[in-house]
Amino acid sequence: MKILVINCGSSSLKFQLIDSETEEVLGKGLCERIGIDGSVIGFTPAGKDKIVNTTPMPDHNRAIELVIEALTDPSTGVVGSLSEIDAVGHRIVHGGEAFTSSVVINDDVIKAIEDVSDLAPLHNPANLIGVRACMKAMPGVPMVAVFDTAFHQTMPEEAYLYGLPYKAYTDYKVRRYGFHGTSHSFVSKRAADIVGKPYDSLKIIVCHLGNGASVSAVKNGKCIDTSMGLTPLEGLIMGTRCGDLDPSVVEYLAGKENTDIKGVMNILNKQSGVFGLSGLSSDFRDLEDGYNKKDAGATRAIMAFAYRVVKYIGAYAAAMDGVDCICFTAGVGENSPLVRKTVMERLGYLGVTVDDEANNTRGKEIRISGADSKVAVMVVPTNEELAIARDTAALVK
Ligand code: ADP
Repeated sequence: MKILVINCGSSSLKFQLIDSETEEVLGKGLCERIGIDGSVIGFTPAGKDKIVNTTPMPDHNRAIELVIEALTDPSTGVVGSLSEIDAVGHRIVHGGEAFTSSVVINDDVIKAIEDVSDLAPLHNPANLIGVRACMKAMPGVPMVAVFDTAFHQTMPEEAYLYGLPYKAYTDYKVRRYGFHGTSHSFVSKRAADIVGKPYDSLKIIVCHLGNGASVSAVKNGKCIDTSMGLTPLEGLIMGTRCGDLDPSVVEYLAGKENTDIKGVMNILNKQSGVFGLSGLSSDFRDLEDGYNKKDAGATRAIMAFAYRVVKYIGAYAAAMDGVDCICFTAGVGENSPLVRKTVMERLGYLGVTVDDEANNTRGKEIRISGADSKVAVMVVPTNEELAIARDTAALVK
């Protein structure tokens, strides 16, 4: 089957066409600046050069039309006609408590996604615009919703409740939901394959370290805890997000900066993290350069970032009463030997040792713990698009 995977944001739309039998990417691309001047679509057919087309995209309907034109173009397209696309898989950020797995989209599903939109006001409405635009352009083609939150729905109450009045949960749905679930699921399953043991017999910690970053604890094939919370702001120090914080900081900072809640939230989401700590960049390539040149800001940001990862690994080893595998994934996890080594050197108490030669590689699946390590530590490149395509193919078969 040929599955179109769509990840739709408020002004951007990422897409990939995947052959679900061979798991090959037939073509992929990105529409940017939708609804803004200077819209552009970039499309890369497999094995060919990228084609960039600057053309007006007043809305997502036009963006989807352009995606279809790119995929079916007689000279540079990757399918003969639209009818070759068997299904569309959509990334949906928040499924609340309504969705514990991926589902075929119908009117009830759309309503349920709308019902939890106040939990992800920037993401869910944008995701639904993508769903509706595809339904319009591809009538009759089955659509599947794959939720970032679904994998974490197995967390027990003790892990997802905050220490707030219980009414905050019952009346307002305030609880830990967790995000990056598609990645945590994909990577933890792959880890079980790599060590050659049943998924439901292992204790796995996945460190998804990208611009957004989260850790999850997967025990016997089920997520039992994760570091992101009601929103993707909690947990690790991220590119520009602060992660865990004393809630009193919000009021205190508002007073000092003479701003309101919105102003502080902007600081916590966009001006904090390794960017705020370093005063340099949110990109770990810049931070590693800075660290190698002994830049104080870059060094403090990398150390604080790694320390938070170390703390979460310790917490989740305790929560699972042990750990068999630790996985690093996403942009930083796959590409930063420095971050991985800084973390692993502080896991001696778990019996972790480092294979430096293996660790000094970037972007490939590899075991990076020493032969004598009590825990298998590995780099597992994530592939959220493939995971979405797999779920979609399984549901529409
Ligand atoms: P997201 O999907 O959350 O935007 P990614 O998982 O793509 O993030 O990760 C992006 C981050 O990965 C970049 O900001 C950068 O810090 C880091 N990264 C990418 N390549 C490298 C590299 N070669 N070395 C170090 N860090 C890298």
